[in-house]
Amino acid sequence: MNSPVLVAAELKGLLEPDQLAGLDVTWLPADQATPKGDWLAIVPLLSRWMGGTELKQLPKLRIVANCAVGYDNVDVVAAEMRKVIVTNTPNVLTDATADLTWTLILACARRLVEAIDLVRGGRWAGWHPELLLGVELRGRTLGLFGAGRIGQAVGRRAVTFGLRIIYAARTAKTDFQRDTGAERVDWSRLLTESDILSLHAPSTPETKGIINSDTLGRMKPGAILVNTARGDLVREEALAIALEEGRLGAAGLDVYADEPAIHPRLRAAPRTVLLPHIGSATHDTRRKMAAIAVANVQAVLQGKAPLTPVFGGTVP
Ligand code: NAP
Repeated sequence: MNSPVLVAAELKGLLEPDQLAGLDVTWLPADQATPKGDWLAIVPLLSRWMGGTELKQLPKLRIVANCAVGYDNVDVVAAEMRKVIVTNTPNVLTDATADLTWTLILACARRLVEAIDLVRGGRWAGWHPELLLGVELRGRTLGLFGAGRIGQAVGRRAVTFGLRIIYAARTAKTDFQRDTGAERVDWSRLLTESDILSLHAPSTPETKGIINSDTLGRMKPGAILVNTARGDLVREEALAIALEEGRLGAAGLDVYADEPAIHPRLRAAPRTVLLPHIGSATHDTRRKMAAIAVANVQAVLQGKAPLTPVFGGTVP
């Protein structure tokens, strides 16, 4: 008999039939609440909250196979209490997300949105030596908050652009330092020395709201803030005010605290590049993410260890 599983309906087009062999799939659209029932596994999108209530109404659940590397949509304490394994999709999305981070850095530094608007709006009056002058990257300082897989990939790309790299993370990254010349600094130095501050730490109680009116006020005048991590690291209204007042040079954002809503003041703020959470959105990466999520389900339901556990790596 096939194993009953819930899979996000939006992943249907990314999965091949053989990846679903042995599974009796109920496709669950993102706008539908998590149902009650005897499903053994769920593959949710990051927009689905998997808290104590949701886990309780799936009493036979053995695994939450999140289709994302971040898992702040899962109450891991509640999952652990119920002996439900939680997995994510690390590594396969590192390059795509690092590339998108660089898209934002370059778009901010070279005022891409203003330039496109000028041309599309028919207001371009021809080449001018002082038209849309941006920030030269060579010799400037890139600060990475979080230097795990994605933070390091962003840093490695920075070498080509001639940037000095500093980073703050809980542990030292010696290989990364050796390869890129990056220097580990404390949070205070990261704030005050970065010309570009790029966020790559997960959303946790320690990191939520770490970019706020106080920390924005300590950043270099004219600095660029980039966030491809999680939206709730940034207090959106405070960021909008820093942009309105001209203290911050620009902000490039892929993620927001209350997606898909964006604080109206931030949506209207000047010098922003606002993307709709597409960090990992390449054909290859999204297929790989879906494949890993389902492979984790297959492994656990076959009594094997999950491939990429967040915790609960041994099958109960
Ligand atoms: P990772 O390899 O786990 O790296 C996370 C980094 O954050 C590590 O360097 C970690 O330090 C650091 N960190 C954690 N808590 C910290 C704290 N309190 N202070 C300072 N540093 C802290 O994760 P990843 O694969 O690079 O992914 C990073 C995040 O990107 C994910 O959590 C996810 O939310 C986000 N993401 C977004 C998209 C998108 O579509 N925009 C795509 C993929 C990922 P240690 O190494 O010292 O523990």
